[in-house]
Amino acid sequence: MMKWLLLAVVVVAVLWWLGRGRRGTGAASPSSDAAGPAQKPAAKTAAPEPMVDCAHCGMLLPQADALSGPVADEHYCSEPHRRAGPRKT
Ligand SMILES: [Zn+2]
Repeated sequence: MMKWLLLAVVVVAVLWWLGRGRRGTGAASPSSDAAGPAQKPAAKTAAPEPMVDCAHCGMLLPQADALSGPVADEHYCSEPHRRAGPRKT
């Protein structure tokens, strides 16, 4: 008898834990949606930083951190790569 009681407690705890983990995705409970329209705030980041790839090694890096090469639209991740120049395969 005590075993069943313990099992019931465990089952209830697991169900509560699962329900807590994925709150809002339950399609079977529309009342939870009415309680609070969980509008996901749009990712309020600043203007998306343009990414460029190093002309030598191809590594992606933010344009602000890139070193510009002698040719327009050429970017490098580091000074040694800028000196080495573009590597075309
Ligand atoms: Zn590089």
